[in-house]
Amino acid sequence: MRKMIIAGNWKMYKTIPDALNLIRTLKPKLIGEKEVEVIICPPFNALSPLAEILVDSPIKLGAQNMHWEEEGAFTGEISGKMLLTSRVSHVILGHSERRKFFCEDDEIINRKVRKALETGLIPILCIGESLEEREANQTLKVLENQLLQGLSGIEIKDPARLIIAYEPVWAIGTGRNATPAQAQEAHLFIRDLLNRRYETEIANNINILYGGSVKPANALELLRQPDVDGSLVGGASLKAEDFFQIIQAGKEVCN
Ligand code: PEP
Repeated sequence: MRKMIIAGNWKMYKTIPDALNLIRTLKPKLIGEKEVEVIICPPFNALSPLAEILVDSPIKLGAQNMHWEEEGAFTGEISGKMLLTSRVSHVILGHSERRKFFCEDDEIINRKVRKALETGLIPILCIGESLEEREANQTLKVLENQLLQGLSGIEIKDPARLIIAYEPVWAIGTGRNATPAQAQEAHLFIRDLLNRRYETEIANNINILYGGSVKPANALELLRQPDVDGSLVGGASLKAEDFFQIIQAGKEVCN
């Protein structure tokens, strides 16, 4: 049985006071939450302050990126080991904005996924096709390349240590989400790829999240798809009420 996961990617939004305000609204609503795993991925400087107020909460913390080395002369970068000291458990890797604006390719992403796992962090590996690729019927090829290269040489012994996020680039921040059928088709394809790569027991228990313009109005129908095990939410995670409603949709699917 895969657990429902709702993760919020705050991107480069929210100062520390704004971040604290949002969490002070969200935290009491999620006391004792067991059905849905909630992960917040704020900017780096908000991680430690949030970790302090989330110490007695089921809400987990994720980072939005990390370097593949433990330490070194890499100005402006942060390592997995450093994230661990801010009580971070998850890290988003391969987000399409990192691929596009920071020239991250599958080889770099693969190094980061390896390092995250070695460090004890759970990578949320993002993959997804652009609009041009979808229109050229390349979606499945792109997903296959990004997934297999991102996971190249990586063995998974515990399915809970890896999360995949299917995020079609054309759906991110555009207000145009994938239809539930498009999401299910991609997720099932990813599930099959995982089955080719890992033992059935492992492959069938890895969470695959959908991301791309998820909001309270469309969350339920997307989360109801059999291979959609949760969501990576961008814009709608910036408002406590919207994010909470998406979590509620996740709970409804669990029941
Ligand atoms: C994201 O950035 O991962 C994302 C899914 O953004 P949005 O929900 O705003 O489309």
